[in-house]
Amino acid sequence: MANAPLPELRRVVVLGTGGTIAGRAASSEDNIGYTAGQVGVSDLLGGIEAPEGVTLVAEQVAQVDSKDMSFDIWQKLAQRCVHWLAQPDVVGLVITHGTDTLEETAFFLHSVLAPTKPVVLTCAMRPATALAPDGPQNLRDAMAVAAADGAYGVTVVCAGTIHSGVDIQKVHTYRLDAFASGDAGPIGYVEEGAVRRVRAWPERAAKASKALEVLTAQWPRVEIVMSHAGASGAIVDALLLAGGAEPVRGLILAATGNGTLHHALETAALKAQDEGVAVLRATRCANGRILPRPDDRLRDAGALTPVKARVALMLELLGV
Ligand code: ASP
Repeated sequence: MANAPLPELRRVVVLGTGGTIAGRAASSEDNIGYTAGQVGVSDLLGGIEAPEGVTLVAEQVAQVDSKDMSFDIWQKLAQRCVHWLAQPDVVGLVITHGTDTLEETAFFLHSVLAPTKPVVLTCAMRPATALAPDGPQNLRDAMAVAAADGAYGVTVVCAGTIHSGVDIQKVHTYRLDAFASGDAGPIGYVEEGAVRRVRAWPERAAKASKALEVLTAQWPRVEIVMSHAGASGAIVDALLLAGGAEPVRGLILAATGNGTLHHALETAALKAQDEGVAVLRATRCANGRILPRPDDRLRDAGALTPVKARVALMLELLGV
């Protein structure tokens, strides 16, 4: 008698990096006085049912409060993503992450991986010990996206909403629905485990195939300086003077409105550019993009926020 075919093995790998989703507080009433990055990723999966036909694998990559995210962790995380994405039976990845720098990690992974499978970051605004934690539902929703047919690219799932890793921004300090996708809007929603997509999955980053070469490289120093009422060139001048073992190679100017700068900061930035520092203007505005003008003397970062522009400039300086 012929054997029945074995069911196809479909794995979703959950990579833990810490954050509030893995946070512990002394009291279940306390949603803010907790320590992030305490509960192991395998324990976070306890009690969560995997999507049908999916086997979960848990791996702890880091255990930090994401305000302390580092290049070392980014490199290790990207390498683990590359490893797992290459396994034929792995259909997608979920990454648990703190909310504070989630958009930077998502944009970094988008820029260096351009995955053809889904890489879904998720998080929580309340610690695992809270009376009503939001982490378990976010994690379950992220698994649904990671296992969804046809899904690909780096996305973020929070509060039932799927955001692109390119457009996502943290926009609230406390609310469970703490993220927004600006003008682009969300990619879709997760409702009772079902993915409802309203726009395309994220576009692949054009040069991502070259990116893995830089994952072990020394990161160039790129600083962010904000333009504001009463700004001066003092910070830029001080950064240039500092030199030392790690001289500044790039500057992001968090510019007002459509990329405008206080004239004193602009003068210092132009001098820095003349001295070989890569300078990029990124708007301070939460929405919109910088519309270039023919007389611009400093490049602009389009729709990228200052923190994402910094990632983009670091990768550019690394030749990616
Ligand atoms: N500070 C925490 C973190 O980013 C905040 C959070 O996860 O909500 O890790």
